[in-house]
Amino acid sequence: MTTRTALVTGGTGGIGTAIVQRLASLGHRVATNFRDEAKATAWQAQMKDQGFDVTIVPGDVTDYASADAMVRAVETAIGPVDILVNNAGITRDGTFHKMNPKQWHDVISTNLDSCFNVTRQVIDGMRERKWGRIVQISSINGQKGQYGQANYAAAKAGMHGFTISLAQENAKFGITVNTVSPGYIGTDMVMAVPEEVRAKITAQIPIGRLGKPDEIAYAVAFFMPDEAAWITGANLSANGGHYMGW
Ligand code: NDP
Repeated sequence: MTTRTALVTGGTGGIGTAIVQRLASLGHRVATNFRDEAKATAWQAQMKDQGFDVTIVPGDVTDYASADAMVRAVETAIGPVDILVNNAGITRDGTFHKMNPKQWHDVISTNLDSCFNVTRQVIDGMRERKWGRIVQISSINGQKGQYGQANYAAAKAGMHGFTISLAQENAKFGITVNTVSPGYIGTDMVMAVPEEVRAKITAQIPIGRLGKPDEIAYAVAFFMPDEAAWITGANLSANGGHYMGW
């Protein structure tokens, strides 16, 4: 496989780390962003100990100028971005009748505005070079909705609308744009959910367990090779059978 330059946003998180490691294992040059330099430097050292050389650059995906600087820093360090994984995301749960504007805006801005802010910085280069892979990390809850997550479900459903429009606009330029919709994965985000709620969630998963971050990384990697060039505008569910659509 040709070595490419990949940027994974939120690469220091639970799922992001697995995506970073898998893309690096495939031989790609990989970068991610940070907001807290000390935390990110410690994470980078851990990656190094495990044999992964990952570039880290400052960047807040909710801010257009910061996303611009982040992408330029990646380009300077390891070259123009061929692969972008829009993975950074947060939850700020609450039933809608109690949700405040900050909970709404923080979630929309981190999960959805981020796709505009970061992708806008890489799309011209991909179109010029006639090759690109863009993957949004959405969620099962963007497909089925979720009690207490009107903000998150709206953002995650919006990500797929973004995917299918970008896929059409860029298909002739060798760029594929796809979505991966994970079910419940045992990262900090999900382990923060009260144990009794988690037990109820697990009971609804036909496979009978939470997913593993690398099971999402595998789904992302599926879109990378030249052999996947025909697959664009797709939404790949990776959820243990928790939600089955077609
Ligand atoms: P984590 O909380 O472990 O990681 C989130 C990452 O996003 C962190 O690196 C965090 O960096 C980064 N991030 C958050 N806000 C910003 C920002 N404004 N600018 C830049 N980076 C930011 O989450 P997961 O690994 O669990 O989730 C990854 C993605 O997968 C998310 O989009 C999530 O919605 C989605 N997902 C997760 C599921 C799960 O079960 N875990 C299920 C379905 C979807 P920092 O350390 O600076 O906060």
